[in-house]
Amino acid sequence: MPGFLDGRTALITGSTSGLGLGYARALAAEGCAIMLNGFGEADAIEEARAGLESDFGVTALYNDADMRMPDQVTAMVDDATDRLGKVDILINNAGMQHRAPAEDFPPEIWDDMLAVNLSAPFHATRAVLPQMKERDWGRIINTASTNALVASPNIVGYTATKHGILGMTKAVALETARTGVTCNAICPGTVRTGLSEHRIDTYAAERGKPKEDVLQDYLEQKEPYHQPMSRFITIEEIAAAAVYLCSDAGAAMRGAAFTVDGGWTAR
Ligand code: NAD
Repeated sequence: MPGFLDGRTALITGSTSGLGLGYARALAAEGCAIMLNGFGEADAIEEARAGLESDFGVTALYNDADMRMPDQVTAMVDDATDRLGKVDILINNAGMQHRAPAEDFPPEIWDDMLAVNLSAPFHATRAVLPQMKERDWGRIINTASTNALVASPNIVGYTATKHGILGMTKAVALETARTGVTCNAICPGTVRTGLSEHRIDTYAAERGKPKEDVLQDYLEQKEPYHQPMSRFITIEEIAAAAVYLCSDAGAAMRGAAFTVDGGWTAR
């Protein structure tokens, strides 16, 4: 059955797992061709790529660029443009997190985090904008976080880079405001993925309890990770926000911080 993204193409960074793969599957379900990117076991990546083709009948490719390397980021955009024919949708989603108080935060991890969470989205955005403007259609979606809007302790690099990507989102949105290219950020609350699981592991370890016994307490804690809805957000709920942003209905969303956070930032 044709989807509303038939004929469109998407490049999604950090899409070998978690939210990125969720975006890929949701866009592919609407007929969009996909280029995946990210780390992981070769077999698992191939399974994810082939699954997009077999489940949704779309072209699905993979590029192994390391988002810490600006040259590889721009080469990835060129590769997607060559092999998919164009890039209509760019989702800057690759991300990393590290927990430590600021005085103990390793400078080399700070540098990597800036590169992956903030600079790679800039390099990719810079590289795709000319072709999107030329066709007068494009969607740039940055996966930010509730930590783009409010801080949490012991994740100074994450909070700083996520605030930064929201600023970049707004700037690009204003520069493209009179074109068919939109730029927005999705700000998820806590979704259970590889990236967030360590927060829960730490919470359980601090209390000396098995992880499954502390999940509800974790969600209901007042600080620092408070999700009033009191359940985890699902990957599908985040991916649906991206599908909306890619639709015609999303055309007037410009520079938004699209929170899907169970009320986290409503306080
Ligand atoms: P995840 O660990 O499943 O996904 C992270 C992805 O980034 C993986 O595909 C990984 O291979 C890729 N990646 C990491 N470093 C890379 C590099 N140098 N080069 C290329 N790819 C790299 O975790 P996730 O939760 O799906 O994270 C995706 C995004 O969602 C991140 O930007 C994260 O900050 C954001 N986010 C997650 C949550 C949550 O609760 N899970 C909440 C808010 C925001």
